[in-house]
Amino acid sequence: MRLPDPHGAHWQQYLCDACGYIYDEALGDPDGGLPPGTRYADIPDDWVCPLCGVTKADFTLYQAPCLDTLKAQARATAWTPPAAPGRAAPGVVIVGAGRAGWTLAEALRTRDAQVPITLVTACTGDVYDKPLLSVALARRIALAALVKETGAAAARRLNLQLWAHTHAIGIHAPGRQLRTTRGTLAYAQLVLAHGAEAALPAPLSASTCWRINHLDAYQRLRAAIDGRSQALVVIGAGLIGAELANDLALGGHRVTLLDTQATPLARWQDQGAGAQVLAAWQALPIRFLGNTQVTQVTQVLRQDTAQGPRYRVRTACGQDLEADQVIAATGLQAPSRLAESAGLAWDQGIAVDAQTLQTSQAGIYALGDCITVAGQASRFIEPITRQAQTLAAALCGGDPLPYQNRPAVVRVKTTSCPLTLHGVPLEPCRP
Ligand code: FE
Repeated sequence: MRLPDPHGAHWQQYLCDACGYIYDEALGDPDGGLPPGTRYADIPDDWVCPLCGVTKADFTLYQAPCLDTLKAQARATAWTPPAAPGRAAPGVVIVGAGRAGWTLAEALRTRDAQVPITLVTACTGDVYDKPLLSVALARRIALAALVKETGAAAARRLNLQLWAHTHAIGIHAPGRQLRTTRGTLAYAQLVLAHGAEAALPAPLSASTCWRINHLDAYQRLRAAIDGRSQALVVIGAGLIGAELANDLALGGHRVTLLDTQATPLARWQDQGAGAQVLAAWQALPIRFLGNTQVTQVTQVLRQDTAQGPRYRVRTACGQDLEADQVIAATGLQAPSRLAESAGLAWDQGIAVDAQTLQTSQAGIYALGDCITVAGQASRFIEPITRQAQTLAAALCGGDPLPYQNRPAVVRVKTTSCPLTLHGVPLEPCRP
């Protein structure tokens, strides 16, 4: 709800330079402790961006472009129809249309209006903020409102070719070709931005567990749970598991949250994160079971088949938990198939140069959740914009803009108890 300004002055908006989030003074950031009507100048220095975790120092005054400016931009980047598969001019080919892929496309187009860009994605390419999937129920964000811009609209705006619903299946590095399910694409430079997949360690399986790492999976989960309070088991109480459990409980569901560690958010044990969220959850229908290993998840029959399947989660200590849905939040792992096809150096992810983000093959770069620097991933939002700037400078022939790899600051979006965690170690990769 926008409040009237008691001083008669206009509310201002401020843009997060790291992730594009817009702080609106009229709306504030209630989840982050800023009530509506909080002026930017009054934001405490330790407040952090709700999406990416940077502080207010990384925000700049934002003025929405006027209609004339938008029309001029549209004329400058006049839409050209996509070339048929296999006949696209070599240019920059990006694999992946998540935040990393789109942020790079924006950065490239900002520097160079002409360079051919082709973006290949297995999904629709719709643009959305993944962190909002963890807070959509609490903030009552409609599913349709999660999409900021359709993939097709973003492609027109950036004058790039979007190959949606297209799987990249192999790289022929010497010939600079990418094989896809729609044909072969020649590239001058290839950028892998396909992210990481939700890991599913045994005994968990895709037939019994949801994995929420993309908008489409989240939409399907919501379709399965909306309209009726359900018993949900969330396996894994790291950042994503804790945020999801919090949001699902606020959405009216009964959540059992399991982890092999004694507390949630065990990576931040030194900052007391687990104890803080457990205290905040006392008023919510969340039951946390620590030191708990899952040994089996099975589907069980129920008499009313209209309600869909039901699941039984067995733990190492012999406990059986009944659930309408089981959600695995057991870490991320980068898929290796594309990298292997090109013989790229691999170190728990695509190994890239710490400053240039180039892989071990000339002409192939990578950014985002699929990369590791010195064997470590940093699967947060804030580094992505800086990585995209580094690559855009290199790919457009500008002055080098070396990437600086540094630990991220994380805002834990457990809306019952928002936490900002500092000095976080770079995320260890999980097998
Ligand atoms: Fe941000």
